[in-house]
Amino acid sequence: MPIICAAIGCNNTFVKGSEFRFYRFPLKKPQLVNEWVNSLGVKNFIPTAHTCLCSEHFRADCFRDLNGKQFLRVDAVPTIFSQGQDSSKIELRKRGVIPKHHWSQSERQHSPASTG
Ligand SMILES: [Zn+2]
Repeated sequence: MPIICAAIGCNNTFVKGSEFRFYRFPLKKPQLVNEWVNSLGVKNFIPTAHTCLCSEHFRADCFRDLNGKQFLRVDAVPTIFSQGQDSSKIELRKRGVIPKHHWSQSERQHSPASTG
């Protein structure tokens, strides 16, 4: 199974020798995962152990050099997403679509409280 970047509008795939690096979601840190998902901008996105983002979405200061290799900082959050290009796709979500019932139970239960 190929490793594909989970970011919207990013089709980077892991290939050997590529300069892109892929990072899994920090599932051991739910709070950090939340930040990643928020930054990703996808609602109800549930990352799995195989969900990755490529290095394109992390600022340079998210990395640190160690023995000539670049490592992602443990608290790094991806912030670079090119949502400007494909914003029309993102805004497809519907809103305000609430099915109306024939009768509303909550209304029936609500009795006018008149103090007299
Ligand atoms: Zn990517």
